[in-house]
Amino acid sequence: MSREDLANLIFPNITKTIADLEECYAPRNLKEGAMVTRYAPSPTGFMHIGNFLAVVIDYVMAKNSQGIFYLRNEDTDQAREVDGAIEYIRHVLENYHMEPDEYEYLDSQETKGNYGPYIQSERKEIYQTFIKHLLIEGKAYPCFLTQEEMDSIRKSQARDKRRIGIYGRFAKYRDLPVEEAIQKIQAGEKYTIRLKSSGDFNRKFKFNDLANGELEFPENDLDIPIMKSSNGLPTYHFAHLVDDHLMRTTHVVRGQEWISSIPIHYELFKTFGFKMPKYVHIPLILKKDGEKVRKISKRYDPEAKMSYYEEKGYPYQAVIEAIMTIANSNYEAWREGHPDADFTEFNFSPKKMSSSGALFDLDKLDNISKNYISHLTKEEVYEGVLAWSQTYDKEFYEILKKYPEYSMQIYNIEREQKKPRKDYVYYSEIKEKTWYMYDEYFKDSTYDFFEYPEEEVRFMLKTYYQEYYQESDSEEEWFNQIKKMCDQLGYASNMKEYKENPTKYKGSIVDVTNIIRIALTTLSMTPNLYDIMKILGPERVMNRFQKFL
Ligand code: GLU
Repeated sequence: MSREDLANLIFPNITKTIADLEECYAPRNLKEGAMVTRYAPSPTGFMHIGNFLAVVIDYVMAKNSQGIFYLRNEDTDQAREVDGAIEYIRHVLENYHMEPDEYEYLDSQETKGNYGPYIQSERKEIYQTFIKHLLIEGKAYPCFLTQEEMDSIRKSQARDKRRIGIYGRFAKYRDLPVEEAIQKIQAGEKYTIRLKSSGDFNRKFKFNDLANGELEFPENDLDIPIMKSSNGLPTYHFAHLVDDHLMRTTHVVRGQEWISSIPIHYELFKTFGFKMPKYVHIPLILKKDGEKVRKISKRYDPEAKMSYYEEKGYPYQAVIEAIMTIANSNYEAWREGHPDADFTEFNFSPKKMSSSGALFDLDKLDNISKNYISHLTKEEVYEGVLAWSQTYDKEFYEILKKYPEYSMQIYNIEREQKKPRKDYVYYSEIKEKTWYMYDEYFKDSTYDFFEYPEEEVRFMLKTYYQEYYQESDSEEEWFNQIKKMCDQLGYASNMKEYKENPTKYKGSIVDVTNIIRIALTTLSMTPNLYDIMKILGPERVMNRFQKFL
């Protein structure tokens, strides 16, 4: 009996060859230098900010080079799969306007691209074609080690301080005669398929990582599993080889935790004689914690999850900007010179990534975001807060929908000017900062006048709205009216005079405007009172004075 018999016994239905597949997924017809990148998440949970950094880099590299960015669902670990994980990733990609050029979405049955299926569990036959080839070549073999045997090998290796894994004399089934292997399979024994490694741990090879430079590794000599016994699907390593080869990926952007797998991937590509893609292993995301800098933690840091940014209502462009500043140290300088350019026009250089870790600073994001929102039009702010509230604050959403023009006037306070006011960091803050403008919220609020005696306050407000408040004044006239009232009521209308001789007055114009402000908004700090009153309009102003009195 031959290796071919063994291969046919294991994969009776696999009739295609690797050459057939390569023909079917021919090299892409792209312009010279175009990069093909992919985001290849395992649907095992929420999306981490580190994943997002990878996506942004994938996207900018592909778009900047007029290449392709595709999404591949790596769902071979079906025990760990979490419902809705891929749908959430899709949602994030759409929200950030980084839709992949090729993808496959099971929920909506949508697919695009000629290199699919883009879901690993649908590619079983493709992987098995490659595995069958290795079996025939004698470069892979069925391994009948049971879980108990493997546990005991691992224990003894740990005890003897040896390298962990199946190699050398631990690879018990590596040289099992074909006949015996066939017998065992026919008798129904369980097996995985392992690579028959030809590497030598004592030999080293050099490997160039685009972000980390030249690295040196010992060759892989482990007979790593390439197909699991449970579902006939490949392990991550093998799927990486097959998929990135057939999908014609040119650049693999992935987390630094994969660097230690390079010897395995190097051997796999070499075994088939395939050209390896280029690799960009991206740094861990760090955060400042007091004086210390540490790895951002999904357990303790809410900002480690992408859902955080959506809940807060950061404009997506601000989050991308903040991520780009940690992706490449020269991004900020580029942005200063290209304030209106799309971020994909930036020529990302993996070399300019920090290999020791990327420090992500929320204060910095806040600054970027504040600045970004301050430069939007009032319409854009309104659209942004409306979209945010639709998911996160239904009540506010209804109010916003009822008063679009009015809301835009509020957001326009000190906006259309050279240095616009920087009021809002994210959309969830807008209600906190403008609620008093809406009667729906204002009606249940209480006032705090601090040190001002109640009778005095009442008298002043009455005097103001009966004698001095007029609608449609210019700011100057409006201010003159208040000054006149100050003179009448014994408050200094001129601050300099007041400071020189405070005892001569009951107070100053600052106290007067403060009292008016509190009566109309309940707050002692707001944007320009004249603007507020103008937007509230005479009817609301009068109602509020009356409500107060
Ligand atoms: N599915 C792997 C992960 O989520 C992908 C790593 C890669 O990009 O190759 O970690």
